[in-house]
Amino acid sequence: MRRCPYCKVNIAGDLGKCPLCQSKLGGSAEEPCYPKFEAQKKRSFFYKMQLLAVWSVLIIGVCLDFMVKIRLPGYPDLHWSLLLAMWLVGFEFGIMRQFKPGTGSAGKVTMMVIITIAMWCVTAYFFGLLKITLDLVVPVVLAATITANFVLALIDKNGNTMLYLLTGLFMGLVPSIIYFFASAKMPIAWVICLMVSVILFAGSVIFRGRAVAAEFQRRFHL
Ligand SMILES: [Zn+2]
Repeated sequence: MRRCPYCKVNIAGDLGKCPLCQSKLGGSAEEPCYPKFEAQKKRSFFYKMQLLAVWSVLIIGVCLDFMVKIRLPGYPDLHWSLLLAMWLVGFEFGIMRQFKPGTGSAGKVTMMVIITIAMWCVTAYFFGLLKITLDLVVPVVLAATITANFVLALIDKNGNTMLYLLTGLFMGLVPSIIYFFASAKMPIAWVICLMVSVILFAGSVIFRGRAVAAEFQRRFHL
């Protein structure tokens, strides 16, 4: 039996460090009795490696940009390293979300798509591509995400159907209405995005209507 001299507790198995205070344990080791967390260790090593890589890229980028004054051809005044920093922070946030348990895949995908779209809009603004981004890229990406959410809703058996439906509907409906009122016109890509959103919402109600009704009852205790 191992023993922690500081916590004054006996600990079974062959642990080297006290699980309470992380001090070195005394006493002799027994047969191991806790499962080994190999997967977690590997994951945490991978996580630290990519974190180091991200910090290296960020530091090198800022130094080249601000100290060596290396600029992108055609954009002599653009501090590209700040855009790079924004993308790296977004990437880190995405990795953190992947490791966080308890969030469904629809939530992860939707959140990452929204963050990526926002970062792409900022980048496009500085490169003079904002118009084509808002008129074409954003609605196409949203329509693709809504379609992916629809497929997930059909195969998901865990009763998150309502979440898929509502995100699908709001990702198509709300931005296209905002776009329409902001610019008083509707590019064809936004019309398609709106149609995809409403058609797939109807499809979800037709295919999974009963599941949605059950979920409403469950969530609102009807
Ligand atoms: Zn201890």
